Amino acid sequence: MNEFELIGRYFTRPAQRAVLGVGDDCALLAPAQGRQLAISADMLVAGRHFFPDVDPYRLGHKALAVNLSDLAAMGAQPSWCTLSIALPAVDEAWLAAFSAGFFALADLHGVELVGGDTTRGPLTIAVQIAGEIEPGQALRRDGARIGDDIWVSGVLGAASVAVLARSGKLAGQGIVLSAEQQARCGERLDMPTPRVALGRALRGIAHAALDVSDGLLGDLRHIAARSGVAAELDWLQLPVDPAIINLPLAMQQQAVLTGGDEYELCFTAATAQRAALQALSVELDLPLTRIGRITAGEGVHARAGDGSPLLAGARGFDHFAA
Ligand code: ADP
Ligand code: MG
Repeated sequence: MNEFELIGRYFTRPAQRAVLGVGDDCALLAPAQGRQLAISADMLVAGRHFFPDVDPYRLGHKALAVNLSDLAAMGAQPSWCTLSIALPAVDEAWLAAFSAGFFALADLHGVELVGGDTTRGPLTIAVQIAGEIEPGQALRRDGARIGDDIWVSGVLGAASVAVLARSGKLAGQGIVLSAEQQARCGERLDMPTPRVALGRALRGIAHAALDVSDGLLGDLRHIAARSGVAAELDWLQLPVDPAIINLPLAMQQQAVLTGGDEYELCFTAATAQRAALQALSVELDLPLTRIGRITAGEGVHARAGDGSPLLAGARGFDHFAA
């Protein structure tokens, strides 16, 4: 099978909203009248972002999910995406499963694959995504205000515990997960649910938002820095994933506060929005938890149950950290 047969078989579907989709030098797209485009890209490299033997259906899902999560964090409505993929060889069963996982999630969110690039090389997947947003409505990182509550969606910690389990680091500490715990943690790592509906609903409610991809403390630092404020978190309020609550406390704290790959939304909102957010949580059937507040100052300060500072030096995941 040559490159064009491969693109035709696995990555080409009839055009939906695009004026022109896969097959020409460029795709042609027309955003809805008066809307701005929100653009983001995320790359997944084998051995760095995922275990090379991960299930290809799940990988297809995740490659798109992490991009949808960025649109969600901006409050944007997903529209189009491109997929650039480097493959070491043509493996048809792998490609079929990968594209099935990718398109299942694409269909769920009405996002259309309109182009990309396909090359031989070490397994790498780069998705670029475009969404649409009403002018002035985007959930930016620079809008947090002193006195805001800090909220997070979902429950945290399981994804990074899955990484510890799969890399043998739990066994190294004599910790064994039950089959159910393993399944739940693996699901959270491999099949994140981008919070697109939540992001849309937060327009006009949240002052600032981002998705938790590199660890809550490190990610919140971006909101604090861009908004010129400090963030204070209370460990006792944090929503710990029930799948990890029998692990040692220090491991839970590390996972919840510094674990990446969560793809939950962290946002700030005025205290006057508490009732609206509780109602939204019920409507979306998604936990929304108040975890701290925005104060004057700088940085992110998490406190343990006894008030002592927790993981004060923690930074978000950094590919080039010394
Ligand atoms: P060009 O050489 O002009 O960059 P290519 O030969 O790389 O075009 O690709 C042919 C067409 O297939 C283009 O429309 C491109 O966007 C699309 N395409 C290539 N790879 C993919 C992919 N993995 N998924 C979707 N579309 C793809
Ligand atoms: Mg090309």
